Amino acid sequence: MPRAFITGITGQDGQHLAEFLHGKGYEVFGMVKGQNNPKFTAMRDEFPYVEPVPGDLADLPSLVKAMELTQPDEVYNLGAISFVALSFNQAELTANITGLGVLRMLEAVRMVGGAQNNPIRYYQASSSEMFGKVREIPQNERTPFHPRSPYGCAKVFGHDITVNYRESYDLYACSGILFNHEGPRRGLEFVTRKVTNAAARIKLGLQEELVLGNLDFKRDWGYAGDYVKAMWLMLQQDEPDDYVVATGETHSGEELVSLAFSEVGIDDWQRYVRQDQKFFRPAEVDLLIGDPSKAQTKLGWTREVDFPGLIKMMVANDLRIESAKR
Ligand code: GDP
Repeated sequence: MPRAFITGITGQDGQHLAEFLHGKGYEVFGMVKGQNNPKFTAMRDEFPYVEPVPGDLADLPSLVKAMELTQPDEVYNLGAISFVALSFNQAELTANITGLGVLRMLEAVRMVGGAQNNPIRYYQASSSEMFGKVREIPQNERTPFHPRSPYGCAKVFGHDITVNYRESYDLYACSGILFNHEGPRRGLEFVTRKVTNAAARIKLGLQEELVLGNLDFKRDWGYAGDYVKAMWLMLQQDEPDDYVVATGETHSGEELVSLAFSEVGIDDWQRYVRQDQKFFRPAEVDLLIGDPSKAQTKLGWTREVDFPGLIKMMVANDLRIESAKR
């Protein structure tokens, strides 16, 4: 039975990846931070097969111990302070966890190493936020980075140090540059879920308005369930490499709101939406659109869920959850 160790197990991608790897017959270990972590307790029923392992991305000895204890074949580093808006307020914490945390994970992997004929394979969750103020359209693996937030800056460090450890120590380390990926498990702080949840609640009479920030942006949004397959595929190749994972399409903030509201039968969404400065960011990423050709050609990866399908799935989920509250 292959063994996989996942950081960020309680997050959206951690849950999708655990499910996916369990389906492939893996023994799945999830790193759990803190004492009696309420997020992990909440997911125990849904993921009884995930073996919790204590550890913290801020604490190298805990990561080394986790590697020694679990002896994984594959390590997926999905743990991070992942919300761009929060990273402006907690920039140092973001640099420590989202940036330096990668260095600590790589060091733990390097120190413990794995069996000589079967070294640990490492996946780094990199992000399209690294492209920030984009230098070319669409963005690919060779597009220069220009991050626009402390989160983006920390992810650039994480990406670069992953490539550096691969080149310096011959680690099997891959960096997946994933564009925004969403789904019913997305946190309510992210714009897609905030919008689909509000559309459902407004439809059900539980909420009167939706307050947003800047709507003049475009994102390449895919489905998280499709994207975790790409992570796994990267670690099954003969050679480690970096890949952009994206849909190749971009959609605006207004399109997102309009689509989510039309899913609940509301055509005049403008009546319900108000903008507030408090949701605007000090610097914005205006346009992201990825070129997934390398992942498609070399990994044979394709996405299955398109943008309307994604929003439909998220609205249906929010209608179900919110109806149960009435
Ligand atoms: P990001 O691409 O990782 O920053 O993902 P988000 O879902 O947090 O934000 C996507 C875009 O939505 C950004 O350009 C935000 O500025 C914009 N946005 C507008 N209003 C909101 C809001 O109320 N919440 C969030 N999270 N983003 C918003």
